[in-house]
Amino acid sequence: MKTPRKSLSKSGRSSDSSSANHDSLSFGKLSERVIFDFLISRMQTTLSQMALHLNMPASTLSRVLAELEHRQMVVRRIIRSGKRGRPEVAFQVRAPGRMVVCQFDGSQLSAAVFDAELHCQALERVHLIRVESPQEAAKQIQTLLDRLLSKVNMKPKDIGTLGLSLNTVWTGHNTLGSSVLPWANESVGGVFASELGMPVELVVPFAPKAMAEYHALPEPFPNSMAYFLVDDGVSAHCIVRGRALRGSSSLAGELGHVTIDPAGPLCGCGRRGCLEALCSGPALRRQLLESLRQNSSGSTLSAGQLEEATPRRVIQLMWESWQSGDPLVRRILDRTFEHLGWALSVVINLMDPQLVTIGGYVLEDKEPWIKEIKDRSVKGTLHGANRQVQIQPGQAKLEDELRVVAAWSAYRPFLDTTG
Ligand SMILES: [Zn+2]
Repeated sequence: MKTPRKSLSKSGRSSDSSSANHDSLSFGKLSERVIFDFLISRMQTTLSQMALHLNMPASTLSRVLAELEHRQMVVRRIIRSGKRGRPEVAFQVRAPGRMVVCQFDGSQLSAAVFDAELHCQALERVHLIRVESPQEAAKQIQTLLDRLLSKVNMKPKDIGTLGLSLNTVWTGHNTLGSSVLPWANESVGGVFASELGMPVELVVPFAPKAMAEYHALPEPFPNSMAYFLVDDGVSAHCIVRGRALRGSSSLAGELGHVTIDPAGPLCGCGRRGCLEALCSGPALRRQLLESLRQNSSGSTLSAGQLEEATPRRVIQLMWESWQSGDPLVRRILDRTFEHLGWALSVVINLMDPQLVTIGGYVLEDKEPWIKEIKDRSVKGTLHGANRQVQIQPGQAKLEDELRVVAAWSAYRPFLDTTG
């Protein structure tokens, strides 16, 4: 399936995007496209790793890389001195110029400026409880951009086109949807362009957080990796030989929408009792608040203390209370670990990945919680006790996620978006 490219001006009409002047960079040969796709997925890699994963002769790779370098789409850099003093070289993608991108997860809004070699020049973020409309989101973006641009001495008119990534997916019917941002649809880019007074391009990279995690892995990287993400949403995207498995409707990896309890809380997808409606950051915040409003006895936390706290803040408070043995928090999290442990076993049974990385602010920097989930996954995993699947905390930073958005924003028309 082709993912539509949205580039909208203030009037909502299509406008020149930051990469439109690169339309001449069409790929003549399949090998060029495959190599460039792989470079985008890996951001920086060596010839030997490319040859291994793409199963291509080094001579073909060298020829295509030289061509991509000539077009200024790829640069090479010396990463270390190799055998017999020969320098070892890595290749990485290059953007057409400086780029400003923005990412809206649901409870975190972030923006960054990248140079052409995709080095981050400045980054800003803000944490929010909930944003109810694109107009409200645009106000938050405006404030964040003002802060970001002042750091690098840029004016709004210097941005060109703002690359905006929302926590959304394209479905097989070219419809944009989100279980986390209920107001997001395919025309929302026009609203942002109008509110911000600048061209806005909706960038919808497939599984950007999983791709960022894949970039962050040291070589040799695994043949297959599943990224188990618990933040404002819940998902498990799989990357095989540098390519994310999209599925036929770009809906692969939506682990968060398996039903745990048909009578459970309403999920952002419109159904009830999804894993995401029970275990995401906002879901845990809601459960804790409801429990505290009903009866806070035995807990050191109070509802009043949490009313104005963002999901990230609430998770931090739950982490501290869990460590000190708070019975209410322990009870809520015990259920959560059971659900997530079962979900992890489903991912392993289904995908049999070489590596599972676990990320998202709910579990980030919380090794004991990851251990609880890992331990509980064993009973649901086929040959669980003897299985050698490597499970580790994620390494990617916000900067890495935004870099994926920037690379996609720059080269979206040229990337292979099929399954
Ligand atoms: Zn759902």
